[in-house]
Amino acid sequence: MPELLSVADARAAVMAEVSSKLAAEPVALDQAFGRVLAVDAVSAEDVPGWDNSAMDGFAVRAADTAGASADAPALLRLAGESRAGEPAAGALAAGKAFHISTGGVVPEGADAVVRVEDTDQEGKGSEAGSEVAIRVEVSDGRDIRRAGDDIRSGDRVLSAGAVLGSAELGVLASIGVAEPECARRPTVAVVCTGDELLDPSEPMRPGGVRNSNAYTLPALARLAGADVISVERCPDDAGATLAAATRAIEADVAIFCGGVSVGVHDHVKDAFSAAGIEERFWGVALRPGKPTWFGVRAHAGVVAETRDMRGNQQPPEPASSLGLAFGLPGNPVSAVVTFILFVRPALRALQGAEPGLDTVEVTLADEVPRMAKRDQAVRCSLSQTAEGWLATPTGPQSSHILTSMLGADALTVIEAGTEPARAGSVVRAEVLRVPSVT
Ligand code: AMP
Ligand code: MG
Repeated sequence: MPELLSVADARAAVMAEVSSKLAAEPVALDQAFGRVLAVDAVSAEDVPGWDNSAMDGFAVRAADTAGASADAPALLRLAGESRAGEPAAGALAAGKAFHISTGGVVPEGADAVVRVEDTDQEGKGSEAGSEVAIRVEVSDGRDIRRAGDDIRSGDRVLSAGAVLGSAELGVLASIGVAEPECARRPTVAVVCTGDELLDPSEPMRPGGVRNSNAYTLPALARLAGADVISVERCPDDAGATLAAATRAIEADVAIFCGGVSVGVHDHVKDAFSAAGIEERFWGVALRPGKPTWFGVRAHAGVVAETRDMRGNQQPPEPASSLGLAFGLPGNPVSAVVTFILFVRPALRALQGAEPGLDTVEVTLADEVPRMAKRDQAVRCSLSQTAEGWLATPTGPQSSHILTSMLGADALTVIEAGTEPARAGSVVRAEVLRVPSVT
């Protein structure tokens, strides 16, 4: 194995290949959850669109309530109603009141709302002519929500690159955007290599290993906004691996796991090379995740000459995909960690979103021995203390202990060195999720 690349250099090498963004496409708002906005969202409307009532009650002229109290209520004559979505016809005259619902447009001439609980009215009707007793004095503007309080016409409410979560979808809906322009989702093909692999539904056999990466990696890809177009299992066979690589590179991002190391049955690197994919790096100073491989199809826009399974040269074809390829280590934790550190930023950047992970400083709860030459990504749960986040390793950290991902809120980065990282020391952590508050 060549000199190992630092995690930062490996990530930079990946990011250097994803400098251009995927094209934009309109997406129906109800399908846009998790998508990345391709253009700024600028409102063409005021939100709210009109001065409206914050309460159910009566629209009045504040001056008409001067001096009103429970003992000496102001008596106003009902002159109409403004319901939500059905504004009152006509203006409010002095000495009159309009029934008004929450969200109802404040009628012309009215400048305050009196809450229904501060009034007495015979019956509940809105018929003009009946009388309402106002038991409080209200000031000008009371319980009125102003047009444009939330958003003014011309305001930029979201910037290109925003990931559309519930708040973003709601705000887009509120300004009347039905089909936001979003970055096309990068297509992803996942290939899990290994003769030992078994689907969860298959009976166990001697030496069998359940294909957990076929579930973790597609889920992580989807969380990063990708369109997972295939998940394949591939035996440890040179021809089958080349065929799988040739198919997978038709996706924007081909993700292989397993078979990328130096064993006699590891065929992924050779298959990538035979499929015309040029190595950018192999080997990262990281645990877990050392044998991570990354490459790019040679010649942008054109698939390089490839060989078929018999080794015959195939003519070049125009490329329909971006041609990025990752060979992740097969160990289940290694595959997840390297996906998070290298693949996720690429998938996000392709869509124009911030590639960076959310990094916070955490205090280590337990001592962690350092490795001389490799950084370690230690799965930790986070808990909040008066001093900040406390990071507790989730248990044994070997790369085959997939349960160490359960309850992991963060990957704590223990940099290479000689002295152990002591309990109480402050280290950097990449947040995976917001810890549950218990
Ligand atoms: P490899 O990287 O192919 O040398 O595999 C390293 C270890 O990870 C071996 O113990 C494999 O059985 C295991 N492994 C490889 N691929 C998978 C997978 N898709 N799911 C679960 N374990 C795997
Ligand atoms: Mg293998």
